[in-house]
Amino acid sequence: MNGFASEFGREPAGRWAAPGRVNLIGEHVDYADGLCLPFAIAQRTVVAAADRDDAVLRLRSLAERGTVEIDLDDVGTGSPAGWGGYAAGVLWALRAAGHPVRGLDLLVTDTVPLGAGLSSSAALECATALAADDLFGLGLGGTPEGRRQLAAACVRAENEIVGAATGGMDQAAALLATAGHALLLDTHDGSTRQVPFDPQDAGLQVLVIDTKVRHHLADGRYGNRRTAVEKAAETLGLPSLRDATLDQLAALDPGLARRGRHIVTEIGRVREAVALLDAGLVTEIGPLLDASHTSLAEDYEVSCAELDLACATARAAGALGARMVGGGFGGSAIALVPVARAEAVERAVRAAFEADGYREPDFIDAEPSPAAARLATPGDSTVVGLVAA
Ligand code: ADP
Ligand code: MG
Repeated sequence: MNGFASEFGREPAGRWAAPGRVNLIGEHVDYADGLCLPFAIAQRTVVAAADRDDAVLRLRSLAERGTVEIDLDDVGTGSPAGWGGYAAGVLWALRAAGHPVRGLDLLVTDTVPLGAGLSSSAALECATALAADDLFGLGLGGTPEGRRQLAAACVRAENEIVGAATGGMDQAAALLATAGHALLLDTHDGSTRQVPFDPQDAGLQVLVIDTKVRHHLADGRYGNRRTAVEKAAETLGLPSLRDATLDQLAALDPGLARRGRHIVTEIGRVREAVALLDAGLVTEIGPLLDASHTSLAEDYEVSCAELDLACATARAAGALGARMVGGGFGGSAIALVPVARAEAVERAVRAAFEADGYREPDFIDAEPSPAAARLATPGDSTVVGLVAA
């Protein structure tokens, strides 16, 4: 904890970690009242924190330059700009919800890879939220219901302070996931269900292929898709596209209809995937992943050449299915791969990227892992985590 002491001149009160996530299926539907199926991964963002008596938040991240210092009373739309908005926004949102939150000294040590489609933003928010929950005695971190409230504060931070029009999937996964499961999230009412998902048990692994193409969700293209989907629902006189039929979409202009078709078919694929996983048929979800990618690439148009190449190459090398994950325009793809084929798939994707002159991709084994938790400190045997409901 030397970094914390040299930065802030005292020891931290504790460390809290929140995982990144991979969305198995159900992409770009979390803002359309849809269903998604994320799982938490082992890669985590860790914050060391100590509470303050005033309303000042002092922030430092080993992944970014400089120290951010902000008075929580000055937090508002777009302020602070930059990465400080994720953490400051969480404290702001908790205060806005009436919780007795003061300032923090906070050092971000480990991190989920930034901008890789693994949701480093929600990991940072959720680790910060859990730190505030513990240090200010909010009592929310120990129950799924309390964690839903923390997740809601994190979503507000990202939407209102950072200005990224993301839905609630990332935060739900980081705060509610359990090991060996994916989290079925119904974004219509926020309800969740743990769905058994243990690829290893089936001789498989979920291989994340990070294309290293970096996207910026706040830059407008994501918000543009969200606006299109909202417009399509409004034109059809529906509260959302959740229950639209493909026949109804035919009444829209062709551009909007294609966007809508992605939403409607993707929600259907989530239901099919859940039915297969509930029946223990992990090996059979591959074609659903492939169809999801095609829909995202052709109807929703959020893929890119690197993601398309990663998926096609992985399939040709033995993956059972592959698709882009996250917001798109770069970031990562996932491939469901027999463990025995994993190295061959990696080699093939590496070679294809080199042949096309792309940056060398990164590979991460995504293992369904537990949600955010306080980390044990030396001499402290209690780890405050989520007690499975
Ligand atoms: P993703 O969530 O897929 O990784 P985003 O664009 O949503 O991509 O979030 C990435 C941004 O979140 C970074 O550019 C940075 O501003 C912020 N961020 C995430 N993790 C950290 C960290 N450990 N330290 C500082 N900033 C971070
Ligand atoms: Mg993000």
